Amino acid sequence: MTQDNDDDSYKNRFATIAVGSAETTRSNKDRTSDVVSPIHLSTTFEWSSGDEANEHDYSRESNPTRAALEDQIARLEGGKHGLVFASGMAAISTTILTLVPPGGHLVSSDSIYSGTEKLLTELATGHFGFDVDFVDARDPENVADAVDSDTDLIWAETPTNPLMQLCDIRAVVDIADNYNTLFGVDSTFASPYFQAPLDLGADIVVHSTTKYLNGHSDSIGGAVITDEDGVFEQLSFAQRIGLGNMLSPFDCYLVARGVKTLPARMEHHEENAMAVARFLENHDQVARVYYPGLKSHPQHDLASEQMSGYSGMMSFEFDGTLIELEAFVEGLEVFTPGASLGGAESLVEVPSLMIPDEVGHGESTAEIPETLVRVSVGLEDAADLCEDLRTALP
Ligand SMILES: *Cc1c(COP(=O)(O)O)cnc(C)c1O
Repeated sequence: MTQDNDDDSYKNRFATIAVGSAETTRSNKDRTSDVVSPIHLSTTFEWSSGDEANEHDYSRESNPTRAALEDQIARLEGGKHGLVFASGMAAISTTILTLVPPGGHLVSSDSIYSGTEKLLTELATGHFGFDVDFVDARDPENVADAVDSDTDLIWAETPTNPLMQLCDIRAVVDIADNYNTLFGVDSTFASPYFQAPLDLGADIVVHSTTKYLNGHSDSIGGAVITDEDGVFEQLSFAQRIGLGNMLSPFDCYLVARGVKTLPARMEHHEENAMAVARFLENHDQVARVYYPGLKSHPQHDLASEQMSGYSGMMSFEFDGTLIELEAFVEGLEVFTPGASLGGAESLVEVPSLMIPDEVGHGESTAEIPETLVRVSVGLEDAADLCEDLRTALP
């Protein structure tokens, strides 16, 4: 794929990190010389003292398979510390609820994953008394207007689920620095391959590893990466001691295995997505396509600047009734209708049909059009994907 700021050396290095020397270093320590990190299922590790002291003692607190994955993911994001959680939501809720004190102030992008929206509007506001301001983060001025010296955390998703809106990470970093507050980015849609928020100055990055990082639709998980020692200490303490919401060794193994092919998969996802986006853009029954890689995306320039590619996620507005839209979804044979994204299989989700109670109606968060279709473009043959859409569309 040609990108406006293609940097081959970065991508080559990324692929080497993804395949993962962290793992071999660790297993060689035990002199077993595994090329792939073994799954350590033991819940407890024999105690010894002094120079012989063990790195691990109880698997909730730390586990060798988890430590190997945390190293690997931290390196992928170019960060100092990594933590992996039982789900993307566990990563997000642990970060937000740990870093914002009861009654504290949080500013969030108004286009946001439905689970994060519920966390912020119900649990955080209702139970912990947070003061949450949702703003249209496409314009950094809106973020600047909402932040003040008492703000504990700025939170943004970019690109957003499902509207594919972007936030200018560098511009928000400047705002966060001015007010000496923390800035966290949910970078799930871009994956570490196409976007490096820590390099742009953000303090915290989160991923739902369920999506591109694992990439095979068979593990629920989440990750947090940060350079800040203080943030890491707080989150690690919350996870290990109080919340116990870490990723299991088996799931760590699956994610570590998935990460090895992340660069190859992301290139292919993007190539297929570009073909599907162009096909949809030229179809009469499609009113609008939201794909940051298209010149018609209102934030295409920003996407080319802060991302090194555009990933496999897009959405489009169907030009027709909800009944016709349902018939389209039922007529698909290669695409599967369903939740989630980032796996090898192409999926479509229509929020108004499939998750009607979860979609933003524009009260506090961004309105999701009734005929919006979110598409996760998988790794099948691009011509087959376009043909499937052509046949199913009216
Ligand atoms: C899926 C998703 C989440 C939640 O992750 P889970 O692993 O399902 O808990 C958070 N943010 C974004 C952008 C997502 O797509």
